[in-house]
Amino acid sequence: MGHEKNDILYKKNDVFTVKIEDIGNGGEGIGRAGGYTLFVKDAVIGDVVRCKVMKAKKKYAYAKLEEIVVPSDVRVEPVCKYHRQCGGCQIQAMDYRAQLAYKEKKVKNDLVRIGGFAEELVEQVTEPVIGMENAYRYRNKAQFPVGTDKEGNLIAGFYAGRTHDIIANTDCALGAEENQEILEIILAHMRKYHIPAYDEKTGSGLVRHILIRKGFTSREIMVCMVINYREEDGKKGKVGRKGKFGKRAAAGEGREFLPFQKELIGELIKIQGMTSVSVCINRDRTNVIMGEEVHTIWGKDKICDTIHRRNIKDFSRTDQGIVFHISPLSFYQVNPVQTERLYSLALEYAGLTGRETVWDLYCGIGTISLFLAGEAKKVYGVEAVSQAIEDARENAAYNGIENAEFFTGRAEEILPEKYEKEGIRADVIVVDPPRKGCDEACLETMLKMRPERIVYVSCDPATLARDLRVLCDGGYELKRARAVDQFGGTVHVETIVGLQRRDM
Ligand code: SAH
Repeated sequence: MGHEKNDILYKKNDVFTVKIEDIGNGGEGIGRAGGYTLFVKDAVIGDVVRCKVMKAKKKYAYAKLEEIVVPSDVRVEPVCKYHRQCGGCQIQAMDYRAQLAYKEKKVKNDLVRIGGFAEELVEQVTEPVIGMENAYRYRNKAQFPVGTDKEGNLIAGFYAGRTHDIIANTDCALGAEENQEILEIILAHMRKYHIPAYDEKTGSGLVRHILIRKGFTSREIMVCMVINYREEDGKKGKVGRKGKFGKRAAAGEGREFLPFQKELIGELIKIQGMTSVSVCINRDRTNVIMGEEVHTIWGKDKICDTIHRRNIKDFSRTDQGIVFHISPLSFYQVNPVQTERLYSLALEYAGLTGRETVWDLYCGIGTISLFLAGEAKKVYGVEAVSQAIEDARENAAYNGIENAEFFTGRAEEILPEKYEKEGIRADVIVVDPPRKGCDEACLETMLKMRPERIVYVSCDPATLARDLRVLCDGGYELKRARAVDQFGGTVHVETIVGLQRRDM
């Protein structure tokens, strides 16, 4: 059994030309030659590219884009000049409508190939993908690492794909317009007073990351500087620690976490909408951005934002909405406009009349639960992260919602316990799991509970298709499916599916 000559079609450094036909999970272009698959980063569907093999395996190879021989009809000039280095927006070089078409097709393909659903059925139930009006500036949250470039200049920006080298860019095209000015103010302050950026390699320096959040409906802005702060650093500050906030030192206000902090605050609050300025202490030598200790140094501890319900026909905003109070550490949907569309659809798919008992599994801070509560008799939310459940309860209270109850724990443990031991039932179950999908035990209990309808919100069409197969084999019928684009420029695909119990 010697090696066949054509075992490996290509070897390292081979250069060849291929047409790109698909996009891989990491956003790379996929071309095929015979039975062989080539992954070419930065190539988009329709491109004919010349590329060089970097790593060859038996059935596939990774190749580097050398030249676009014939550009694809859907290739566009990306707005962000850093997009290839950053890797955050893998398909920004593709026309937005083509991105949407790709995402819709991906959902359908996965339902057919992974879920084993008939192609005709999938075509019949799939509604048109919902895109954004503007595929840029849609994110309400950004986290910029602070560091130095090769010449030692202080910079803020993003990590170059899969590294921890910071590339200077204070204007990410997905973020709020104000981000740039805020970052430049902080960098100028650091330069003026020689405040060092944190250095991952030595663990020294002060400023690690800058988190900025903006309420898109409230226009409120929050800035949180993540710092490698030690008590003794504060004492070195030249500005008196008492000042006019002296009495509130324990709450953080008036405490000097950053040299010449008052001057910095004075500059930051010139930005329209500035509502909260805080520091978050993180002294751990890890990749985790945020620490656990937050001190507000100016303004409020939290900003507000409202998620409105939308009309399903034209997706116009209604005046019904849920107000969320967001701290630097809270989870909150990063694209609130598309979230409104997605969760309004979830409500529509749930088909509530006011009499139903509804479960919202993987409920996070309860966004969907609180949406559903207005139309249901009772909503139960389940979420593994206890801080998120605290936020969910707080948000329910703020909004005067009394028929929502939240449990901390894993969906696959809480659901069987509540159903089998306490006999709590369900008319409708909504799930919004992370990418790995639902746990088998969770799906099993859902089937036992026999709700009339199941609404599945998913951020990974492959695990969605896998789980839908289990649910449909267990007595449910695929009724509606729709992709909603939450992350333009990226390969992420969000899908919502409505299932109905078959009458047996
Ligand atoms: N709809 C939510 C977001 C859902 S994201 C909102 O708008 O807030 C998925 C959530 O599932 C995350 O909050 C994650 O913490 C949670 N999670 C992950 N595994 C879980 C499990 N096994 N059981 C319950 N929750 C889980």
